[in-house]
Parts: sequence; C-alpha cells; structure tokens
Amino acid sequence: MTQNIDLNEIDKFAKLAAQWWDPNGQCKPLHIINPLRVDYIKSNDLNQKNILDVGCGGGILSESLAKLGAKVTAIDLADESLAVAKLHAEQNGLSINYQKQTVEEHATQFPSHYDVITCMEMLEHVPDPFSIINACTKLLKPNGKLYLSTINRNHKAKLMLIYGAEYIARLVPKGTHDFNRFIRPSELMGWVEQAHLTVKDIIGMEYHLLSNQFRLGRNVDVNYILMAQKDELN
Ligand code: SAH
Repeated sequence: MTQNIDLNEIDKFAKLAAQWWDPNGQCKPLHIINPLRVDYIKSNDLNQKNILDVGCGGGILSESLAKLGAKVTAIDLADESLAVAKLHAEQNGLSINYQKQTVEEHATQFPSHYDVITCMEMLEHVPDPFSIINACTKLLKPNGKLYLSTINRNHKAKLMLIYGAEYIARLVPKGTHDFNRFIRPSELMGWVEQAHLTVKDIIGMEYHLLSNQFRLGRNVDVNYILMAQKDELN
C-alpha cells in the first residue's frame, strides 16, 4: 500500500520545529486557538482516559490534554517536531508517549484502545483524509469520541487564511495552506459517516476582527471542529 503521507508537508512542518513553542512565532495561530479547542474537549472527564493526538506537531494540544490528567499518546511523522515535543514535555514534567508512526499503522496495533482521539489542523495536509478517519474509528473504544478540526473551502477561508494570515499579517509562512485541500463540513461529515461514526456536533472557531479574538460559535465558514462518536456496536 502506498502510504498516506505528503512528504513536502511533513518537511514544511519539520522546518518550523524550532518555533513550535514560541507564542509569537509562526505557530502563533495554533497557540491562539488552543484554549478554545481544549475548552471544547474538556467537557469530557479526561482524567486517566486514553487519548491519542494524531499529527501532534510540537505537542501544543497534547500537553494541554496531559495537564487535564489524560494518558496521552501522540503521533507525528516529523522527527524534528517530535524531538521538540519530547524535550518540552520533559521540561514541564509531563509524561506523554510520543511516537513516530502513521495513524493507519497505529490502528493495526491498538484497536479499540482510545477513549478520545484528536486530530487537529492536520487533515488539510494529507492526501487521503478518509483513511485517517477510518483508522481513528478502529482505534476508538465503543462510545469513544473523535475530534477533528480543519479549514472550510470557500472564498472567505481563502481570503482569511491565505491572503490574510500568509500574505498580509505574515502570521504563518507563505505556502502553509493549500486551498484545494481545505475541507467543507459536508465532505468531512460524509467521510465520518462512511467510517461508521456518528456526527454529534460541529462548531466554528470564529475570528472576531474588532476584538481581534477567536471564539467558539456557530459560524463554520473558516476554522471548525467536528465531534463524532463510535457507536456501541461498531
Ligand atoms: N495538531 C497540532 C499540529 C498541527 S500542524 C496542533 O494543532 O497544534 C500539522 C501536523 O501534522 C504537523 O506536525 C505535520 O508534521 C503533521 N502531519 C502531516 N501529515 C501527517 C501524517 N500523514 N501523519 C501524521 N502527522 C502528519
């Protein structure tokens, strides 16, 4: 089987590795949205729960989940990012199981193992997002929850994330996003259902220009999170 990996994308993030934990560096947008997604996920009791963070990068989300008492395994394919993630967790006294592995391979080793799986801001960087979601289904325990976040594909998202964030504000490097890989909520819901999960909720991470703040809300025009659950009998 050819692997579901775009090496150019992995390389792009590996080059950012030194900046993962700089709140004002090129990963600033992830630091800004992190509290929102953590708030959303922590409506579950995460204490001692098995969580898998897919495409963890430098561990911005993984660490927050570990701080909430979860037993976190986190996977990525960029050595440089994993090295930064491991060091940062160690320096902060957090125990996180970082591994270099595809989620498809992880699924063959740990079926029905996780209470919660997060895969944030990654699906728009892989050739076959469905294969990722399918692997997540295998990895979830019955009733386990999957949180996916990505970027909608429309003019507004293009304007805000490509022209706005890359070219005008220069928040992230040019070429960070590929518009054609952005994912409409309807497409994401289709894949989730095809993978035999039930869509439970979908929520926007809205940017408010006047206050220059992000908030969770109903508008899924640009950044959004989808939450799905594996049925008892699946
Ligand atoms: N989830 C993190 C990082 C998002 S950046 C956060 O939101 O804070 C996207 C990450 O996905 C990068 O670290 C990149 O190396 C990783 N990635 C891209 N394709 C991948 C794949 N096929 N398998 C695992 N990780 C992948």
